Amino acid sequence: MNAPDRQLLERFSAIVGSSNAIRAEDADLTHYTQENRHIFHGVTPLVLRPGSTEEVSAIMRLAFETGTAIVPQGGHTGHAGGGAPDDSNTQIVVTMERMNRLRAIDIAGNTMTVEAGMVLQQVQETAASHDRLFPLSLASQGSCQIGGNISTNAGGTGVIAYGNTRDLVLGLEAVLPSGDVWNGLRKLRKDNTGYSLKNLFIGAEGTLGIVTAAVLKLFPRPKGREVAFAAVASPHQALGLLNLALGAAGSGLTAFELIHRRPMEFALEHAPGSRDPFGERHEWYVLAEISSGRSAGDARALAETIFGEALEADLALDAVLAESLAQQTAFWKLREDMAVAQTREGGSIKNDISVPVHLIPEFLDKAAVIVAQELPGARIVAFGHMGDGNLHYNISQPKDGDTAAFLARRTDINDAINALVISLDGSISAEHGIGRLKREVMAATKSSVEMAMMRAVKTALDPTGIMNPGKVV
Ligand SMILES: Cc1cc2nc3c(=O)[nH]c(=O)nc-3n(C[C@H](O)[C@H](O)[C@H](O)COP(=O)(O)OP(=O)(O)OC[C@H]3O[C@@H](n4cnc5c(N)ncnc54)[C@H](O)[C@@H]3O)c2cc1C
Repeated sequence: MNAPDRQLLERFSAIVGSSNAIRAEDADLTHYTQENRHIFHGVTPLVLRPGSTEEVSAIMRLAFETGTAIVPQGGHTGHAGGGAPDDSNTQIVVTMERMNRLRAIDIAGNTMTVEAGMVLQQVQETAASHDRLFPLSLASQGSCQIGGNISTNAGGTGVIAYGNTRDLVLGLEAVLPSGDVWNGLRKLRKDNTGYSLKNLFIGAEGTLGIVTAAVLKLFPRPKGREVAFAAVASPHQALGLLNLALGAAGSGLTAFELIHRRPMEFALEHAPGSRDPFGERHEWYVLAEISSGRSAGDARALAETIFGEALEADLALDAVLAESLAQQTAFWKLREDMAVAQTREGGSIKNDISVPVHLIPEFLDKAAVIVAQELPGARIVAFGHMGDGNLHYNISQPKDGDTAAFLARRTDINDAINALVISLDGSISAEHGIGRLKREVMAATKSSVEMAMMRAVKTALDPTGIMNPGKVV
């Protein structure tokens, strides 16, 4: 890639205007250059803040003409380092933060057209203000952007009922590396006219173009919602509970999270105001949400039936239904606080994996053997979206252990966990993507045919390799 000189940086800056072009010599750009887990620290000479699709197109046209590398960025909450520039000081960051407008909302058609920089929480709130639900829900929703969610095909807690981001997007507008604008902002629920181009951009992590707007699917807002914590003896028992709840509630089962005791302990210790939902200690927990389109009473009755039957059928040891909105929020907060609480316990090695849902217990049993053999004393911190077969299988360093020595084992332990995942026909990245973090691992674990198809798509859309180089493929 070309290193942009002062004159070229000025040409880029002129496209967005000087107040929306931030030079490294004038400001602290750490927010844009350092990935949020602090694994990757990059540098950039310039951050551009375009305000329209036309400006994004002009940026890409100039980048294409001059061979300048561009890194698209949303809220920069991603976990794979995809939104950070490398350390060559040649890559220009294009942040979508100013492109945050609502373009249209179609209540009768249940769609909403938004610009890529709208923060997820604002998308949810806009839908709610029109008595609709946009169901994508992540702990980072206060700062991640819908364009970033689309580019990572984000998952979160509602996937079991509503699907991944991919399932929530009807149409897209994207600027190609050449600067050409593809207007695919269709509202169609059925459209079998050739290749599904939108699906190329969803999950591409900014390597094929810049997403500038999207048509999103809206849903009726549930009229009743119940949140329950259940204590379970084992992941195997949790699997039984999952199937019972799915059988009774169907798509009314809107979340099903499995939580080990350790992340619960970390949250109880480090998150101010958190409380154990149970009077006694249990080894495993399920956090479940039941929704009803009919009424609050219907959701309550359904939840009482599910957990009553679970206790009778020996599929749960205990269960608590939240008694108020405040308690529902507290139950969810406990779950959301787990990742941050873990950071207080020293070094951690993280894995975001998925396996077929029924193999979650087998994965956990076998992974525990690997950790005990390879990292004696390390603490397994497993929790996640069991209903989707997705676990955040994190490992905290031994208490009072040597952090550097522990982290030095990251590659070995992740290789062993990944080999286990592959042997179970799973995925090494369930929802966080590939970015810089898992590029080599992906190439090593996918077939040569699959990698060749991916590289062919990349070359076709980005022949000069200016679009987020060094990420994904
Ligand atoms: C506390 C916390 C909880 C989280 N929980 C979840 C979870 O439950 N599920 C989950 O899936 N993720 C989760 N994440 C990860 C992260 O929030 C998601 O990956 C999110 O979708 C990233 O959005 P972003 O706007 O921050 O994107 P960024 O981090 O800015 O970018 C992510 C990638 O997308 C590209 N990109 C961003 N915007 C565009 C665009 N407009 N056009 C083209 N490319 C673009 C970037 O180049 C980068 O490769 C969590 C993160 C945190 C910090």
